[in-house]
Amino acid sequence: MRGDKKDEYRTVHDRVTDTSAEKTEELEARIHRLEQVETALRDSETRLLDIIDFLPDPTFAVNPRGEVIIWNRAMEDFSGVPAHLIVGKGDHEYALPFWGRRRPVLVDLAIAWSDEAALRYPYISRNGFTLTTEVYIPSLGPEGTYVWAKASPLFDSKGNVVGAIESIRDITPQKKLEIELRESAEKYQTVLHSLPVGVLTLDADLRVTGLNAEGERITGVTVEELLGQTCDQALGAGICESGCPIRYAPEGHERLRPIETTVHSKGRGRIPVRLSTARLVNASGELIGVVEVFQDISRLRTLERERANMVSMFAHDMKSPLVGIQGFAVRLVTRYDELSPEQRRQYLEIIRRESAKLEALINDFLDFSRLQIGSLRLNFGVADLHKEFVELVETYHPRFLDSGIDLELRNPKPLPTIKADVNRLRRVFNNLLDNALKYSPPGTRVVLEALETEKEVVVRVADQGVGIAPEDLNYVFDMFYRGDAPETPEGYGLGLAGVEAVVRGHGGRVFVSSETGVGSVFTVMLPKG
Ligand code: ADP
Repeated sequence: MRGDKKDEYRTVHDRVTDTSAEKTEELEARIHRLEQVETALRDSETRLLDIIDFLPDPTFAVNPRGEVIIWNRAMEDFSGVPAHLIVGKGDHEYALPFWGRRRPVLVDLAIAWSDEAALRYPYISRNGFTLTTEVYIPSLGPEGTYVWAKASPLFDSKGNVVGAIESIRDITPQKKLEIELRESAEKYQTVLHSLPVGVLTLDADLRVTGLNAEGERITGVTVEELLGQTCDQALGAGICESGCPIRYAPEGHERLRPIETTVHSKGRGRIPVRLSTARLVNASGELIGVVEVFQDISRLRTLERERANMVSMFAHDMKSPLVGIQGFAVRLVTRYDELSPEQRRQYLEIIRRESAKLEALINDFLDFSRLQIGSLRLNFGVADLHKEFVELVETYHPRFLDSGIDLELRNPKPLPTIKADVNRLRRVFNNLLDNALKYSPPGTRVVLEALETEKEVVVRVADQGVGIAPEDLNYVFDMFYRGDAPETPEGYGLGLAGVEAVVRGHGGRVFVSSETGVGSVFTVMLPKG
């Protein structure tokens, strides 16, 4: 082409040789200028091709027929295909190294848009004529590759499309980081929303930016309703008017200890909470936000009240057997001679029964409080568990029979002897069987099952009784804790606290699973060693 033009001008030159010398000179000069322009053009084209060839991003270009006209070095490295094997080839040859098959890619869309081909990409953004996308290519590399691609049509000076150029970039490391970040943010959100405490986040202006699920439950409002509100609008806490730890946060005061206060709950009114506050500061120490953590302690408060009532009832009930004992003892002492031997025997029997009641109460109480202060002393000896359970079932059998409840001992294999405080262990199973009897209706069955694992003896007392409400399950081993079912029989909430104390004293564990209306299973695990 360039050669043709030169010839053309040479012809012009030849044609004018017979004109005047002046004209000849002028034409010579024009031809020279044209030759200079030609060389400059050729140089700039070579430079452009060199630039494309040495571009750090893999780049290729195609002509309108889809034949590769440029395949740069970075593209050779990335695709593993040398330029000389692909330049000049059409029919989507350039898709093969990436997708393993011939298919339209972004460069084709830059030449001629096709909705159908565009659907192969998760998204394509357009800026003028330039298209950009990100796509995961599973067959590229051992674990697949995330690729960023940008393609533009190429225009000639008249605005005709003479091809298109596409650059791509391996963004797998960034993408993996992005995925890890997203997953960790999601994990953080899940943890935040599963926390059993309310979490309220505020920005540096102390306006709400977030509230987790428990926070929504406590306040009775959704995070959307609170966004942008001030903290006191959001929580209406009892300490908003005075001493609010948040108020001191921006000034950096150290008033951030946990406090007990109340918050306003839509539908439930004021509810007691334990509230802690933390300032969020950046690396330069500037306040960027505040986080408030608050725990609903209404259940705890109710329990404390109930426990206080129970303690005073307990003290009162300890007094009544004592009054009985004292009364009959005084009668025996003062009127001994007037009383018939039968009356004396009767009074002594009452004294024995009442003192036994008192002793049982005091024993449970003492075991628990000794364990609390770490002074529970167990008298370890050799315990033949098989013999113990057989005797236990024999003792309880008549009482279960009277209540119309079946008692079954399941003891598939002979149990080993273990080191234990036999008397205290007996009390543990007495308590569990007493409860099974107390909380089961007639016509049901209680199973005492004992088996051995490699390191432990596992004993289960399973009943088909009233069961324990899920919200009570965490507390049944607490001292003076009693379920509040209306038909709950008498008791002091000491039995299970004593059971746990003794089992822990043996290095074992006790736990319960239960369903209301279906029954409860208490499991005691005692170490064999
Ligand atoms: P008490 O039976 O004297 O109340 P415990 O400490 O033995 O005290 O038990 C505490 C609470 O646990 C009981 O008040 C009752 O609500 C519940 N509980 C214990 N055992 C059972 C059981 N087998 N079935 C249902 N509830 C039980």
